[in-house]
Amino acid sequence: MARTLAPETWGRSTVRTACPLDCPDSCTLDVTVEKGRVVKIDGGPVNPVTRNYICAKVRRFGERVYGEDRLLYPAVRKGPKGQGVFTRVTWDEALDEIARRMAEIRGTTGAEAILPFCYGGSNGLLTQDTNDARLFRGFGTSRLARTVCAAPTGAANQALYGKMPGVTYSDYVHARLIVLWGVNPSASGIHLVPYVREAQRAGATLVVIDPRATALARQADLHLAPRPGTDLPIALAVHRFLFEGGLADQGFLDTHTRGAGELRARAAEWTIERAADVAGVDPAALERLAQLYSSASPALVRCGWGLERNRNGGSAAAAIMALPSVAGKFGVRGGGFSMSNSSALGIKAAAWMNDTPEPATRLVNMNQLGRALLEFKDPPVDMLFVYNCNPLATMPDQNRVLEGLKREDLFTVVYEQVFTDTARYADVLLPATTFLENYDIARGYGPISLQLVRPVIEPFGEARPNAEVFSDLASRLGLGDAELETDTLLSVVGRLPPHLSAELMETGSVTPPFDGAPIQFVDVFPVTPDRKVDLFPEALHAGAPAGLYGFQPDPGTDRFPLALISPASEKTITSTLGELRKRAAVLQMNPADAEARGLAPDDPVRVFNDLGEVQCAVALNKDIRPGTVSLPKGLWRKSTFNGSTSNALVPDTLTDLGGGACFNDARVQVALLGRH
Ligand code: SF4
Repeated sequence: MARTLAPETWGRSTVRTACPLDCPDSCTLDVTVEKGRVVKIDGGPVNPVTRNYICAKVRRFGERVYGEDRLLYPAVRKGPKGQGVFTRVTWDEALDEIARRMAEIRGTTGAEAILPFCYGGSNGLLTQDTNDARLFRGFGTSRLARTVCAAPTGAANQALYGKMPGVTYSDYVHARLIVLWGVNPSASGIHLVPYVREAQRAGATLVVIDPRATALARQADLHLAPRPGTDLPIALAVHRFLFEGGLADQGFLDTHTRGAGELRARAAEWTIERAADVAGVDPAALERLAQLYSSASPALVRCGWGLERNRNGGSAAAAIMALPSVAGKFGVRGGGFSMSNSSALGIKAAAWMNDTPEPATRLVNMNQLGRALLEFKDPPVDMLFVYNCNPLATMPDQNRVLEGLKREDLFTVVYEQVFTDTARYADVLLPATTFLENYDIARGYGPISLQLVRPVIEPFGEARPNAEVFSDLASRLGLGDAELETDTLLSVVGRLPPHLSAELMETGSVTPPFDGAPIQFVDVFPVTPDRKVDLFPEALHAGAPAGLYGFQPDPGTDRFPLALISPASEKTITSTLGELRKRAAVLQMNPADAEARGLAPDDPVRVFNDLGEVQCAVALNKDIRPGTVSLPKGLWRKSTFNGSTSNALVPDTLTDLGGGACFNDARVQVALLGRH
């Protein structure tokens, strides 16, 4: 439905909106539009933390909106699956066909044979968990555990602190010690970098823990490069150093925590020497970390998401987040921990989702999509409805996901902005709007912020916003009325906490509590039943294969000794914008590992294990630790020589807590292409 006069009658104007993409920073955007087309995307001033500048990724977002891969109209498959040949149809024809197939499946194998598949990382409060929830919950489809990212850290944070808000960017300057643990803000949250630099100029000591010498690691006072999956022993060794050295803050532990005894017992076996040996780091460097952490105040630990992506990831996150409790680092500005602040405003999607109660249908872990498509029997997955997600690029065990998508008896809907790797395997394609064409509500998870996302241009082609498509489909299936997205917007805003909804509608953003910079244990406290930190939550302990804080050894073997990691890159936001990548991806490898394999720079190589093989060029890079190789996260299949990406080598095993993905548990071998 047209919202305005025809775009060609527009002049030039700059429209304020916000970025909802999967990045902690949540920039305000000023988008310049000329005759209805986006000509410039720049930073705006509303979110003061992001200081009016934005990343290079979103500056070029117009290339996605108007790019050759953009989906412009609904279409249905012609010819074999995966060939990529589609015929244009109308929205009515496409939605009628989807509704017909859904009803047919419910009448034969049952509605649980339908699997909605989405991930909301790059979506705000409006484009996920609104009318899509009404449709799929109401219809009784299988449910999806959306655990590909932040599930282990989220489980740990929830159990220990009830997701107490963390230290925000503007308070980093007050810290005397900053530990960046498993996070590279230069690639995934650039606005943190100047705050860290400012703190360094003010005299803060910087420690970086990352298997790679990232830009910040190269300028740090101390860099530990552990083997992937060994952050847990490192954190437990620091705990042991604190407890056994009489450096724990017993007063804080007695007053504000429970479970310290169990944590201490679990840490007891991790001497500095043993942890350093397992992690492959210098024991003197690990001891220095422990000394720095025990003596500095304010001391701040930034717990990133890189450290969760392995079999020990949940326990590692819990152990790291427990450090400020044991060392008594709370109660001062710039001290404590910094994690996701997505819960800081107290917004709960249940306020609107629970209009349609969640049925107790089958729960499918998204990290095991290939398994679900190929092995589930009772019922099998007969229909896959993909939206807000590109699983063929982003999910583990890529070859099995691909095999599943090729099933001729699987009816696949892909509702997307561009022709993704997954879209190629669709039976029905639906074109989705981008955040420049629809309303949304962007919630930051670094800075505490909430901003209105406004459409700055008309939907391109026949693209339609999520709220309208899912309500339209729901109405065709007798599950309520079709809505305009503005109806859905008003409905969601009306269910926000009242002080937020009024300000959001009036000004387009909200004033964060405590000036957006709460002090932990002064302004904010654990959101647990007794307001205490639970350092040994029984539920986590019971659910972890080796118990909470129990270390599971490296999955490497003689055949596949190298750890493959796939960290965030400066080019994409997970896989979003992957279509714009022009150059083939390159495997980063330490020169010592290359020499041992007779590899020279730019050699074509096979990176392989029993799950698959990636063919690409190799770069020799002393900034990555020996024994570890790296490919960028979020690659599309076109970015390698053979159409496989790192996820083809990633097992679909799950993290110890939260059912997360073990991307960094891929163990591989590398050889010259053509040599076996
Ligand atoms: S991706 Fe992050 S840094 Fe880039 S514009 Fe969006 S919020 Fe800002």
